[in-house]
Amino acid sequence: MARHRGGGDLVHLLLMLLLAAALLLAPAAAETEAEVAPTAPAQGASEEPEAAAAQQQLLPRPLVIELPSAAASELGGGDGSGDEFPPEVRCASWRLAAEANNLEPWGAVPAECAAHVRDYVTGTAYRSDLELVARESAAYARAAPLGGDGRDAWVFDVDETLLSNLPYYADHGYGLELFDHHKFDEWVERGEAPAIPSSLKLYKEVRELGFKIFLLTGRSEGHQAVTVDNLKKQGFHDWDKLILRAAADRKKTATTYKSEKRKEMEAEGYRILGNSGDQWSDLLGSSMSARSFKLPNPMYYIP
Ligand SMILES: [Mg+2]
Repeated sequence: MARHRGGGDLVHLLLMLLLAAALLLAPAAAETEAEVAPTAPAQGASEEPEAAAAQQQLLPRPLVIELPSAAASELGGGDGSGDEFPPEVRCASWRLAAEANNLEPWGAVPAECAAHVRDYVTGTAYRSDLELVARESAAYARAAPLGGDGRDAWVFDVDETLLSNLPYYADHGYGLELFDHHKFDEWVERGEAPAIPSSLKLYKEVRELGFKIFLLTGRSEGHQAVTVDNLKKQGFHDWDKLILRAAADRKKTATTYKSEKRKEMEAEGYRILGNSGDQWSDLLGSSMSARSFKLPNPMYYIP
């Protein structure tokens, strides 16, 4: 038994020595780890060193997001011109910037992006984007608290919002060519613009929910009859007012002209709860809608 006790003491002593060695080595190991750990930017260099050290030990390691070296070098490299990216990436960036209204007023699609824009507007992505906007618009319309007094209004733009001019733009480079009023007017006068299906569905639903429908378009009053015919032929009926540009509005920007018309609606006692348009100039300015819905359109820009 004594030998057993003696052996137990020896084991006990060894364990104590191992524990002491571990305690002595731990700070050094932590220091070494701190030296090799990726240096997350010191969040608040003013933090107390003790607090920062405590945080470093408390935070689980996976919280430090490490970018793959390739991605990191792409984000860090380049001279800001974008030349280092392939054309399809540059054009996707251009289209996003156009949709987000981050570009200076632009006149035509950049030549290198002509194919990109053509493929987008003739492919499924454009339709999918249009449908998503319509779904979100409908969800908002269904949840909107209507006053029940017939004064809740929804404003729709016409071109590239209710009607599509893709057949025209197919013959004009999908926005690659500078906009030509005369040629476009000839197209409008044919009255053959097809409906955007998701917009027609939204239009009908908004109508059935009890909104007053105002169609506010940059088309001139001279195109009233053909616009009415075109809209009706494509299934749009029973709007409350179709507002077109009068001669006095011709020199105004779309933003100014449409803002003035919305102000008139408000002066008549309407509450504009929704506004759908493919141009920011349909939506921005004054007397803005409670909620605006921007439909995609990378083919042209109207200030
Ligand atoms: Mg439009």
